[in-house]
Amino acid sequence: MTAPLIDPFARTIDYLRVSVTDRCDFRCVYCMSENMTFLPKKELLTLEELDRMCSAFVRMGVKKLRITGGEPLVRRGIMTFFETMARHLETGALRELTLTTNGSQLEKYAADLAACGVKRINVSLDTLDEEKFARVTRWGRLPQVLRGIDAAQAAGMRVKINTVALKGFNEDELFPLVDWCAARGVDITFIEVMPMGDLGNEDRIGQYWSLKELRATLAEAGPLTDLPERTGGPARYVQRENGQKIGFITPLSHNFCESCNRVRITCTGEIYTCLGQEGHSDLRGPLRASESDADLEVAIRAAIGLKPKGHDFDYSRQEVDGQVSRHMSHTGG
Ligand code: SAM
Ligand code: SF4
Repeated sequence: MTAPLIDPFARTIDYLRVSVTDRCDFRCVYCMSENMTFLPKKELLTLEELDRMCSAFVRMGVKKLRITGGEPLVRRGIMTFFETMARHLETGALRELTLTTNGSQLEKYAADLAACGVKRINVSLDTLDEEKFARVTRWGRLPQVLRGIDAAQAAGMRVKINTVALKGFNEDELFPLVDWCAARGVDITFIEVMPMGDLGNEDRIGQYWSLKELRATLAEAGPLTDLPERTGGPARYVQRENGQKIGFITPLSHNFCESCNRVRITCTGEIYTCLGQEGHSDLRGPLRASESDADLEVAIRAAIGLKPKGHDFDYSRQEVDGQVSRHMSHTGG
């Protein structure tokens, strides 16, 4: 292994999130517009290039790899990629291989993912109501996703549900969702919505529901205990009286940057070292320039050397006002 990745603020970078496609079989209103133009195939990293890229990061000390998108499981041949990544789990170089998915293809792939060493997955699910599910995802079908979750659990994977908190949409489902998760033995994390996609145009969907408010409503049903658990990201956890753990993710929060351990790669091979900043570097050029990984490693270290200390307050204010120039499906949520 080569020297670990340490940024200018002495943070060790050991968590990589990789978007493997910008495409998706859903069109969630807060993420995409109905008529998306996707990137031409040649812009995307090939599966072999994804392997080289991820393997370089693993050599440089990345211990946790999360595959995302777009919808990672609609990328053609993606299981080959998981199969080849499994070798890093076998050697112990990689501690965790995981993914974030909308669940639509899980029924098909859950057993194969588990066989590749995937032990935990995040499944996005905003409502348990079929009609509302169709409305928020535009193209999604709830029963298919629920069968996917069943398949994941049957394959022995631990499932965490990610729920985007949307005022006037799933506010009335707070307790049904939380209780459903408790009954199934799956964790749940709520995510504050960021102003992307086509939110404003969707009938009755998309008012900002602050997690502070959500937490207060939850606390009305019984005391919540703050948990010390930290993953290096913006997630914070509480425990309910019945022992159930609930997470909160405030994507634009900038209170936790000092412990940030992660970077993101887009499906075109750009590296974003901070979700709340526009600064990024190209890694596809150095990757394609040579068959050796020497240039790539130099470019990775240079990019990590530019990782900002954190979100800039004024800049984040602009984002809250709706000036995010890239979709979540591009950077990878
Ligand atoms: N397609 C996969 C899925 O939906 O889980 C992975 C990619 S998706 C971009 C990753 C996560 O980002 C999902 O949990 C989704 O709900 C979340 N997300 C997308 N747009 C968002 C937004 N505008 N604000 C907050 N979360 C968002
Ligand atoms: Fe697709 Fe995930 Fe975006 Fe929904 S949130 S449109 S499932 S990428």
